[in-house]
Amino acid sequence: MFFAPIQYNEPVFRPPGEAQSAILQATIGCSWNKCAFCEMYTSKKFSVRSPEQLKKDIETLAGITGARKVFLADGNAFVLSAGKLIPILEEINNQFGKIQRISSYALPKDIISKSIGELNQLKNLGLKLLYIGIETGDDELLKLINKGETFQSIVDGIGKAHDAGIDTSIMIINGLGGKNYSRQHAIHSAEIINRLNPKFLSTLTLSLPFGLEHFKSRFDGDYKQQSIKELFEELRLFIENTNGTNVIYRSDHVSNNLILKGVLSKDKEMLINQINKAIQSIPDNIYPNSPAFL
Ligand code: SF4
Repeated sequence: MFFAPIQYNEPVFRPPGEAQSAILQATIGCSWNKCAFCEMYTSKKFSVRSPEQLKKDIETLAGITGARKVFLADGNAFVLSAGKLIPILEEINNQFGKIQRISSYALPKDIISKSIGELNQLKNLGLKLLYIGIETGDDELLKLINKGETFQSIVDGIGKAHDAGIDTSIMIINGLGGKNYSRQHAIHSAEIINRLNPKFLSTLTLSLPFGLEHFKSRFDGDYKQQSIKELFEELRLFIENTNGTNVIYRSDHVSNNLILKGVLSKDKEMLINQINKAIQSIPDNIYPNSPAFL
């Protein structure tokens, strides 16, 4: 991403919902950088950008973008302590004037490490949304993918953000555990969503940019890839078991084979009908990235 005169440290990722936001690269890379399925920041060594660099970028972005939302990149900029985040948010408010929302990717542990008072302070400075890739609610699978989180740490972290009035957008990965862990992944992921009732929920599909064998070598279990039909079946089981209220659900990431949009649980039946139709229309032996489906 080159946004003259800001030179970003590539690659830069942002959620689809931040397409109109000014992107401020507060940190470089991901402080964890160990999840088995994730290659987003493996080319970067984690570092924190200096207050001087950030001040300059904020001035530039405020002067030329006209944006009303700011997204803090990279992987988990929320790892920064409240002491570091507060001056950044204050500077954004000073330079941008009326700001609608500041958001960031976060890990549950990044939230837990802050006090409720600090979270309140950040929220009052405009930090209104955190994007959290929890990936699954299944403890066994969280360990196999080396997420560094558990069902309980996710509930504690996200619950704390909600207590401070910060909304969350949660991501689950369809196909994360393959055939062997599919059922427990779907059921426990639904269970954690039911516990948290986030504002936004999206499902992505496992992508393998470096190939199946590379992923298998990083996955600490017996990974058996699912066909697209099996991925849809896993998704159906997940949706069937959710009972959240007013959760805005999207499955519209580039990795998804089926676009779904609705509000849980109001649109649950409609979503399940759409998945059923997709299941009926696809042969058994089509796998992601197989030539017949490209
Ligand atoms: S925490 Fe997020 S960005 Fe970091 S390695 Fe895991 S999935 Fe990738």
